[in-house]
Amino acid sequence: MARYVESVCRRCRRENLKMYLKGDRCYSDKCAIERRPYPPGQHGQGRAKFSEYGLQLREKQKVKRMYGLLEKQFRSYYVKASRKKGKTGETLLALLESRLDNVVFRLGFADTRSEARQLVRHGHVRVDGRKVNIPSLQTRPGMQIGIRDKSKEIARINAALEAVERRSIPGWLEMDKEAFVGRVVAPPAREDITMPIQENLIVELYSK
Ligand code: SF4
Repeated sequence: MARYVESVCRRCRRENLKMYLKGDRCYSDKCAIERRPYPPGQHGQGRAKFSEYGLQLREKQKVKRMYGLLEKQFRSYYVKASRKKGKTGETLLALLESRLDNVVFRLGFADTRSEARQLVRHGHVRVDGRKVNIPSLQTRPGMQIGIRDKSKEIARINAALEAVERRSIPGWLEMDKEAFVGRVVAPPAREDITMPIQENLIVELYSK
């Protein structure tokens, strides 16, 4: 399977945004974007002027990288969103937020989305009590997402749960930390996504 191989922090620096892709390090003074707040590469410190297309492209790349998706996967979410009723940009974000790996991350079982994806793939996650190892599974209101009994001792999961206070659990999710179980209580709303995203630019890019 294709995957990103470039440095994770480079992605944040490219988009000039703290995307919190590395867990603990992102909250420390080792964060690369705090130390070098300019784009990577030889001309990173030069003057950056984006065309309209450039702005749209950067916005799309930013969201794609935030959720750890490849172009083909991201585009298929756009196509799916464009076929649904309502604002395409908002629907796109709701679809991305509802992915199982994102929900596992948002509930605090993992420090990053990539860690959450690994937890799902390795069978540590239960959805409504059943084993599910598909990170892209779309969650729905009423679904229960938890950690299997045998995995509740895993240090990484416990450390992530301990550290979850540094980011708040969105209102569309409920969490019972003691039981290692969370629940989707509503579809994700636009205002629940607090990262600075201009989804209209992504729609403009793909509508060309
Ligand atoms: Fe981004 Fe985290 Fe790296 Fe900082 S430490 S640049 S927030 S991935």
